[in-house]
Amino acid sequence: MKSKEEYIESLKKLKPEVYMFGERVKSVVDHPIIRPSVNAMAATYELARGDVMTATSHLTGNRINRFTHIHQSNADLVNKSKMERMLGCYTGACFQRCAGMDALNALSIVTYEIDQKHGTEYNRRFLKYLGYVQEDDLACGAAMTDAKGDRSLRPAEQPDPDQYLHVVKEDESGIVVRGSKLHQTGVLNSHDIIAMPTRAMRAEDRDYAVSFAIPSDTAGIMYIYGRQPCDTRKMEGGTFDVGNLYYGGHECMVIFDDVFVPWERVFMYREYEFAAGLVERFASYHRQSYACKAGMGDVLIGAAQTIAEYNGVAQAPHVRDKITEMNHLNETIFCCSLACAYEGSREACGTYYVNSLMANITKLHVTRIPYELAKLAHEIAGGAVVTMPSEKDFRDPKIGKYVARYLQGVEGVPAEYRIRMLRLIESLTMGLGAACYLPESMHGAGSPQAQKIMIGRQANLGGKKQAAKRLCGIE
Ligand code: SF4
Ligand code: FE
Repeated sequence: MKSKEEYIESLKKLKPEVYMFGERVKSVVDHPIIRPSVNAMAATYELARGDVMTATSHLTGNRINRFTHIHQSNADLVNKSKMERMLGCYTGACFQRCAGMDALNALSIVTYEIDQKHGTEYNRRFLKYLGYVQEDDLACGAAMTDAKGDRSLRPAEQPDPDQYLHVVKEDESGIVVRGSKLHQTGVLNSHDIIAMPTRAMRAEDRDYAVSFAIPSDTAGIMYIYGRQPCDTRKMEGGTFDVGNLYYGGHECMVIFDDVFVPWERVFMYREYEFAAGLVERFASYHRQSYACKAGMGDVLIGAAQTIAEYNGVAQAPHVRDKITEMNHLNETIFCCSLACAYEGSREACGTYYVNSLMANITKLHVTRIPYELAKLAHEIAGGAVVTMPSEKDFRDPKIGKYVARYLQGVEGVPAEYRIRMLRLIESLTMGLGAACYLPESMHGAGSPQAQKIMIGRQANLGGKKQAAKRLCGIE
């Protein structure tokens, strides 16, 4: 397994073509806006010890980082949920490595299924690739969401054929792909990109039914950095206006401008009838992964309780009630994530798969609960969360003393602590960290409607109707 330092060194060796604010980024690792996200990914290496964060490879028997593991039991799935909550709490951010793990697990199942039907060799290729990922302890970014153009049209119907990633050329050595993937979490901190289709496909869409893995600095790939609220605060050189001093997440627009992929790294090509299955497997695994937001919720609850103490209102019954409500809601996320792990089952290929209905319930809660927690945190924190002067004013020789004096809370707690805690709440709920906590909770791993469709399909309404009818005597 790589150490945190070895991981960061390995990132420095990559040469991706990255743009931000219209300029080429020279070093991903050293850029002050990107660095907190590097730190968050690095935490997945730093903490890799013990049963929660490591596992035994079913390929080699070696001890590996759990993020590269294929789940071999319910205990593996449960440890995955625990790992994600723990890391969400440790970083207070998106640590970005789950989507790659979820893509590997989904592909372990679907490559096997395609081979069963078509006599292809995708699973052999996949397992070879997996061995390499485990051996080198790689971070993989999962590229799923296409640009999609006119949402009412299918991939092959788009006036611009590149709105969905597709194959434009093939020969004996491999394929060439073109298109883009949007909102790609953590790609700049990933050694490899695993691409998958974003939706169900029909026969006419077959050139879009493609999945593969390539190094993230492969020729023809360009990254355009997605900005976040308050991102330039990271350029101000202060210590606390950013809220979370160490960690963050990032997303990029990823352009595939005629990128070559060798056959050895192609895991699906033209088997359009398996696209929906791959999306569904990946989505269910990733919806389980949103236990990460219970970890971020732990941080927000801790911040809300602390600021209540600093404000001198912690004992007020309505504040205590709100903190309890926050805990109740936050644990609901974790309960659901654990439930889908405990209720997971073995697939024909040997991989353990979560209970998909419960994984979707987990994520649907995540589209709601963090917003409710943010609201409660705002209510407890008070309006200062959005009205405080900057750190530069706090440090100013003339006016700084007024800022400190009139932002003082209870005696014995320096005003600076109160400001820092309010900035953390601001960041998590409106600023830099909110990108990881709120819209990502809404849309990451699929928007609420996607979960509702899956719940509708899997809720066994027939069985429920029967139960009702039997009890009141209807045949
Ligand atoms: Fe992992 Fe959560 Fe970030 Fe997704 S949003 S990559 S599940 S930390
Ligand atoms: Fe996400």
